Formats: sequence, structure tokens, C-alpha cells
Amino acid sequence: MKEKVIAVLEKIKNAPHFVKLICFLGISAIVMTLSLNAAGVVLAYNVNYAGNVIAQVNSKEDFASAGQLASAAIMGENTEGYIYAPKFFPTLTLNSRIDTSADIANAILENTAELKKTAALKVNGVLVGTAESSEEIEQKINNRLSSFNVADYECSAEFVDTIDLVSTYCSVNACTSGEQLDAGINNLAVKTTVKETTDVKISYKTVTQRSAEYQVGYYAVNTKGVNGLKHKVDNVVYLNGVEIERNSVEDVVVNEPVNEVVVVGTAAVVNKNGSSGAMVFPIPKSARYYISTYFGGDGGSHKGLDLAVSRGTPIYASLDGTVVEAGYKSDYGYYVLVDHGNGLKTRYAHNSQNLVSRGDKVTKGQTIALVGSTGRSTGNHLHFEVMLNGVRVNPLKYVG
Ligand SMILES: [Zn+2]
Repeated sequence: MKEKVIAVLEKIKNAPHFVKLICFLGISAIVMTLSLNAAGVVLAYNVNYAGNVIAQVNSKEDFASAGQLASAAIMGENTEGYIYAPKFFPTLTLNSRIDTSADIANAILENTAELKKTAALKVNGVLVGTAESSEEIEQKINNRLSSFNVADYECSAEFVDTIDLVSTYCSVNACTSGEQLDAGINNLAVKTTVKETTDVKISYKTVTQRSAEYQVGYYAVNTKGVNGLKHKVDNVVYLNGVEIERNSVEDVVVNEPVNEVVVVGTAAVVNKNGSSGAMVFPIPKSARYYISTYFGGDGGSHKGLDLAVSRGTPIYASLDGTVVEAGYKSDYGYYVLVDHGNGLKTRYAHNSQNLVSRGDKVTKGQTIALVGSTGRSTGNHLHFEVMLNGVRVNPLKYVG
């Protein structure tokens, strides 16, 4: 290599003068170009657009692609028609002065008299309308959202679609009207999430206390029940004001209920005079009767009290209660079974006729049947039974 360069220089040295000059100029031009390139100086074009130099470009193709970028930013169709044809003037410039495509596109848009910069609203990427300023669009959007807020509750409203505020250019003659923007915004679906609180009553419970201090049939409210209150908190989702989802968040108890405490007597009734709380005698005391068989009679097998009395004598319910059975059985004949609560029941059997039906409420002293001799019976009498918790006990301890 070194030998080749020396050989070329030898040839120049021996060449005629004009050849030497040409060689000198050629080498100088190469050295100059190399030096300018090294300094960042390039051959470029000044772009004259609508009378103004708006950019410096490396090539005419660079301007063309910037023009396409500008067209894409213009609202509407056939937007390429707005771009003027530029004039190019060659120039030397620093490489750092060459404009980017984005800068050139902006310069084109700003210098095109038929175009106006405008704020625009895009919904899911589609242009919906324009306004003088993005603040104006924001104001309208916020009005739409706040119209779905629910008073008195914590709530948040949001659009279902993707909303973008963009800056765009429109033809001064074809920018959309405010009505178009309003219509577009009013069509936006709004999802509102509301934390709703409703008052819910908590019903009190009734607690029964059994007390042997009181006779069967005693009933008194010791503590009056008071309903409580809770706040039921729900997360409710509305779409354009219509409920689409509701989830319970929590129940906050504001007031606990106060249980009602009821005292009922369990002591056996031993009064013989039918005073309050005591059983009454199951037939009129004035009737001519006698006890034909005692409890425990017939060798212990008789579990009731037999009161022999004439047919048709009224049979009284010995306490308030509910008729749980009223019918006929081969042994009892026509009979009535009354439940008085607190595990206490009474039975009246061998009746000629029952005057009550199952489910009837009866009061103490009410005539519920008439004496007879139906079923396994040898004469007119009332077979009267008292049951405590399912066990038949001696009725005389209750009615004397
Ligand atoms: Zn009997």
C-alpha cells in the first residue's frame, strides 16, 4: 500500500503542470467536503410554504412524508387537499438544524390559512365533536358526570367508554358545532357507584322466664321489648341511573334491640275457689254430681277424675287455652283436649256432644262440651284429666 501511494505521488511529480493543478483542486475539494462534513454542515433545502420558510429538510421526500402526517391530524375527509405545494431552495446548513417530521407537520398545519386549531373529544378513538378550548369540553364532561351523583351518599361517576381530549385541526368552514359536541356527550353512558345506607329495624326477641313463684296461667311482661336499629350499607352500581348491581358492604348496628322478658308461672294451681290464675271446676258446682272414680282408682289404672252428673250438663274449660284435639275415640268417646301452655293440658271425655273444634281458642269457664256416656262408659259422667308435661296428674290438686 505504502509503495502504491509513493508510486502515484512519483507519477504526479513527473506529470505536466496542468495535470498537477487538476490534481491539487481535486484533492482540495475532497479535503474541504470532508472538513465540512466533519463540522456537521450538510447540503439541504429551505422549505418555503405559503410565503414563509417553515423548515429545513434533507430531501423533498422528507417534506412529503411530513405532509402526510399533517393531513392525518386534520379532522374530516380528503384532508390532503388542504396542504399547499411548497418551494424548495438548496442551502448549506448544520445537520442539527434539519427539522423532524413532527415539527414540519406542525409548521404546515399552523401555516395553512384554511385550517384552525381546535380542541376535540374522542370517544373510543372516534372524534365526537370540537370546541374552542379543552376547558370547555372538560366542563361539559364534568356536568354530565355530576348529573348522575346521588345526593347524601358517597358516590363516584365514570364513563363506560374511553374518553380522550385531543388537539386537532379542522377546516375553518367545517369545524363541528357546539350542538354536535353536546349531543355526543349526552349520549355517553355513565356508571355511578353509590354507597347507600338504609335504616333497618332489628326486631326484639321475647325471652320467657319460667317461675315457680307464680301459678300456672300467670303471665307478665317484666321488661318491655324495644326494637333496635341498624344501618345497612350497600354498594350500588347504576348505569345511566338504572340499578344494575347491589352488594352488601356492612351492617352497622346503631341501637341493639332490648329483649322482651316475659315471666310465666309454673307453680301448680291449688286454689279451690276458682280465683284468678286457678283452674275452675269443669262442671257447674251447682250441678248435682258426685265423684264416681278418683285418680288412681281401679287399682291405679284410672288416670283421671270421674264426675257423675246428668247428661247434657255443661263442661267448662278449666283455664284459657287452645283446643288441640276434639273428636271421638273408642275409649274416650267424644272428647276435647285443651292446651293451656307451659306444659299444662286438660282432657274432657265421654261427652254427648263437643261444642268446639280443633284450633279454637277457649277461655276459662267457657262451655266446650256436654256431659254424656260415649265410648267405654257405663253411665253419664265427665272423665276429667290434667296433664303436666305429658304426665297425667291428680286433677283434685288443681280444682279441689
Ligand atoms: Zn274415667
